[in-house]
Amino acid sequence: MPDDWQRRAIEAMAAAIRDNAAMLTELDSAIGDGDHGNNMTRGFDAVAASADDLAGLPTGQMLQKLGMTLVSKVGGASGPLYGSLFMSAGKALGDRAPDPRTLTDALGEGIAAVKKRGRSDAGEKTMLDVLQPVHESLTEALEQGETRPAELAGRARAAAKQGLATTRDMQATKGRTSYLGERSVGHLDPGAQSSGLLIAALAQLAEEAG
Ligand code: ADP
Ligand code: MG
Repeated sequence: MPDDWQRRAIEAMAAAIRDNAAMLTELDSAIGDGDHGNNMTRGFDAVAASADDLAGLPTGQMLQKLGMTLVSKVGGASGPLYGSLFMSAGKALGDRAPDPRTLTDALGEGIAAVKKRGRSDAGEKTMLDVLQPVHESLTEALEQGETRPAELAGRARAAAKQGLATTRDMQATKGRTSYLGERSVGHLDPGAQSSGLLIAALAQLAEEAG
């Protein structure tokens, strides 16, 4: 990975959220309270503003600090959940060097933390319906001996896309959207969409790195 990959990853995630804030707001307006675009933009703009500090840290520490910023800035239900994702991933990575295997492990621990904090699981029309399939696709690819970043990125991107699509027909049972009951069916989940944007941004970086 290029030397400045941490900075590029931060900037790519922040840009993906900023450029798609209106879409996230629109999705959340259909089945929530319409704040997801603003919540996520506020959080990732704060992350981008401290990119100088964050990018210089060892990866595990960077992830933890990024998660703390999200907890304090995003708000809503998604702030503490995205915060848990990054903080727990960073803690799990610890001092290990980032590589496809250690990062996939760390993602798994981050997902476990989201489930614990959200009392939720995949299949409930949330960000987990993107994050979990991405983790599964990476784990499976690694088990098959695949370690090329571009190939792994392609698999992650495809899993995210497919996972996002599955949220359309799901009925929400967690979060604000669950109050809609059956009326939540027929719309993509905003948090699954924001997770998909983050995965796609990171996948593109990995593809560029080869
Ligand atoms: P709020 O629902 O408080 O307005 P946001 O709009 O920022 O917060 O985020 C909503 C998103 O958070 C949902 O689309 C969903 O993906 C995610 N979410 C909400 N509750 C949970 C939960 N218990 N577990 C996992 N994800 C959740
Ligand atoms: Mg909302």
